[in-house]
Amino acid sequence: ENVVNKIAAGEVIQRPASALKEMLENSLDAGSTQISISVKEGGNKLLQITDNGSGIRKQDLAILCHRHTTSKLASFEDLETLSTLGFRGEALCSISFVSHMTVTTMARGATYGYRVTYKDSEVEAPGPKPVAAVPGTTITVEDLFYNVPTRRKALRSASEEYGLILDVVGRYAVYSAGVAFAVRRHGDARADIVTAAGGSRLDAVRAVYGADVARELLPLRLEAGGGTGADVPVDGPMGLRVEGLISGANYTSGKKAVLVLFINGRCVECAPLRRTLEGLYGTLLPKASKPWLFLDVRMPPRQVEVNMHPTKREVGFMHQTEVIEAIRAAVESQLLASNE
Ligand code: ADP
Ligand code: MG
Repeated sequence: ENVVNKIAAGEVIQRPASALKEMLENSLDAGSTQISISVKEGGNKLLQITDNGSGIRKQDLAILCHRHTTSKLASFEDLETLSTLGFRGEALCSISFVSHMTVTTMARGATYGYRVTYKDSEVEAPGPKPVAAVPGTTITVEDLFYNVPTRRKALRSASEEYGLILDVVGRYAVYSAGVAFAVRRHGDARADIVTAAGGSRLDAVRAVYGADVARELLPLRLEAGGGTGADVPVDGPMGLRVEGLISGANYTSGKKAVLVLFINGRCVECAPLRRTLEGLYGTLLPKASKPWLFLDVRMPPRQVEVNMHPTKREVGFMHQTEVIEAIRAAVESQLLASNE
């Protein structure tokens, strides 16, 4: 049974950056305003994430890593519409099957913090140990895939894996601007990404992608179709709301196209949208460098990820052709207006 669990875990968690993405989302879901990350050997040796979020109550620690343990199901309705939020209660479970995992946490208002280690989804003896702690949670993941040689062999060099981690954190730092992020190699005084508490989205872009990118960005706003609420049925009308920042005509330093895409709060990829936008920049600004775009897209949750595996980053959605065309047209008109 553990073999099956390990295989399942390897599908949810492919590499250090995917483990980190899950932990990062949990920290944000817990309302954290400060998240710091420490990485050893590209995360192959150690990934540690500390947040100042809600913390985890003692009584929840025993089942924390059980499959389908989640505090995020409001109702049966939600079960039917997992949509972009991914498999519920899969991430920590999966990580506990393929690493040595330690959780140190103190719930807001609690007297003590607790430290617990997990193995194969269960608390290891002797169980939660009271420790002095500050409110929030630290999760430490060591020796990822120590027991899955095929996954371990598929990992790239430490510096490449670290690059992928920086990429994930950078995207979330822009999306969740105002949350203070710090990422560093374990033991380094200097962080490789630092964003300020309370900063704007443009501040976060500057901190992560550099002043050259931030300087050239144009705002993008779009509302189309009907509502974007959870009540809109899967076969209901298109509803679309987009807020973004896009590189304009004067941005000439992009070596590769960057599309930071969030749909309903989750960082995803959408190849058809990417191709369309790259094509648009290619024809509109033929001499320009590769574009840089950040898009925060909202649409009815039930219409997202139809028939697609929720742990894959690539998403599909209803009304895809119309949605992509609406975004393309909005980007085009902003580029034309700014180029006059
Ligand atoms: P999901 O996020 O889908 O609920 P996870 O396996 O990622 O599943 O996490 C399981 C549960 O553990 C969460 O629902 C949450 O209650 C709790 N949890 C995980 N990380 C944190 C954190 N950093 N702060 C507070 N609670 C957390
Ligand atoms: Mg999660």
